[in-house]
Amino acid sequence: MQIIRDLPALRKAVAGLKKECGKLAFVPTMGALHAGHMALIAEAGRKADHVVASIFVNPTQFALNEDFSTYPRREAEDMHMLEKGGCALLWAPDVETMYPPGHSTTINVTGVSDGLDGAARPGHFTGVATIVYTLLNQVQPDIALFGEKDFQQLAVIRRMVRDMDLPVEIDGVPTQRDADGIALSSRNIYLSKEQRIAARALPRALGEAAKAIQEGGDIREHTERATDTLRRAGFDPIDYVAVCDAETLESLTSLTRPARILAAARIGQTRLIDNLPVIPSV
Ligand code: AMP
Repeated sequence: MQIIRDLPALRKAVAGLKKECGKLAFVPTMGALHAGHMALIAEAGRKADHVVASIFVNPTQFALNEDFSTYPRREAEDMHMLEKGGCALLWAPDVETMYPPGHSTTINVTGVSDGLDGAARPGHFTGVATIVYTLLNQVQPDIALFGEKDFQQLAVIRRMVRDMDLPVEIDGVPTQRDADGIALSSRNIYLSKEQRIAARALPRALGEAAKAIQEGGDIREHTERATDTLRRAGFDPIDYVAVCDAETLESLTSLTRPARILAAARIGQTRLIDNLPVIPSV
């Protein structure tokens, strides 16, 4: 696996891979890799001839009160996992490379970015869209893969790629979970043993609500019930539990189209997010 940290070397390496012919798939990450990330790498390998990953902890998607400085960084282990996963190239730039002095251009995807995490974390999706746009421009992949775990992020990127006519296919990969149902996340290491057990309420509450709503239950009643379950488990604050259109993320009051139930809540110092499909019966 080639490990590349500067732009001229990246351009040369990408040109080299493209000359070898075949498709190039790209998996952007912030590192601290786990089996969720590796599912994206494996899917990338099935979809393309060469897999490129990036590791960049993007400062502009963290608010001042968030965990940018303490976000787990484990580059040596990450490299080992990527190499084993069949990755051909790791793009690991530093902050100055991604945000050169005087950097002043941002990508703001309105609408789909506004609610949910966009409301709870002002500026977050502008940081995400700007860095993903830049990474796509640098790596020039045929396909880029993102996890459904960050469902709103995936929707924002799909919208951006469509609106800016970027020549890349965006693929979503289903959320990978631990045996207890909790979605794999680099932030799960922050959870104490007790918090980890309590956190099982998150996938369980969403699963019960999704099932009830799919069977004709009232959206408001079941999102409120899920919120109560989370509160009783010790989540506080609960930023949102919402059922939204699966593409635009507009809030829904009745299940008239394919939807997603999404939640974000804090347990102790750790903010967890999760989501599940809610499919109307035909
Ligand atoms: P991150 O390093 O958190 O920025 O995540 C990098 C990519 O991995 C994003 O597209 C995430 O949605 C995806 N990802 C993270 N956790 C999971 C998971 N448990 N299952 C599937 N994809 C995931």
